[in-house]
Amino acid sequence: MPKPCLFCGADGEGILSKEHVIPQWLIEHLGLPADDLMIQGVASSATNQLLETPRVHSSFNFIHGRVCCECNTGWMCNLEGIAKPILVPLIDRQRPIESLSQAESSIVGKWAAKTAYMHSWISPLRRPVQLDHLRVLCGDAGRLLPGVGTFGVQLDYKQPSAYLLSGCWPQCCQVERQRFTRTPNDAYKIGLQFRNLYLLTAFWPDPASLLTVAEGLHHPIFPPQDSLEYRPFDDFTVDEGPIAQLQMFTNWLAVSHL
Ligand SMILES: [Zn+2]
Repeated sequence: MPKPCLFCGADGEGILSKEHVIPQWLIEHLGLPADDLMIQGVASSATNQLLETPRVHSSFNFIHGRVCCECNTGWMCNLEGIAKPILVPLIDRQRPIESLSQAESSIVGKWAAKTAYMHSWISPLRRPVQLDHLRVLCGDAGRLLPGVGTFGVQLDYKQPSAYLLSGCWPQCCQVERQRFTRTPNDAYKIGLQFRNLYLLTAFWPDPASLLTVAEGLHHPIFPPQDSLEYRPFDDFTVDEGPIAQLQMFTNWLAVSHL
């Protein structure tokens, strides 16, 4: 039985194409050599530590055969075309992420979510993002599902590219004696890094809870409204690991229970 396209749901013989999880233009821009390895990590929600030695991949083989030709050569190709000229100066830190216009932010937010979702479907954790979140992105008019947030920052880096799926959720309670809640199964946090640009796509399913940025660390990309903000009780300490900056950026995004 052929599997349906992750984004539009179309199925049928021979309709699937091979889509690079990292688009070809970006592989070329990052100058990744043919034998380049991509680091994939899975962090524990309890300790923030990586659960296992990160899996490494060739960036060129990082292909997922679950996207149809029509999506691949249609809206996804259009999205790459409009996202590339915005992303390149951010990746090279020639333009601050805070300078994005609202229109540019919505493009970067959609691109970040699309790329993060593709990564989640080939993750060693086998916890792919739920399909309804992929389906609403489909098409030129496709949007992020309400409740999904994308965030960015520009930092130094050690690896040209990395990916982290984290279950670490700091929780802020607005009311005294309010309880921390267990992380729901369908919450997710997916961090991506391309040179200096770090992008985070996050979702917490309870509409009475809001994604909450760490002061000075997360810049909201989309939705662009003012996010709740907290001041971490700890310094942002970064160890020497190859994806330490990405871990910090991904793990410190919090959720506030209202
Ligand atoms: Zn499709």
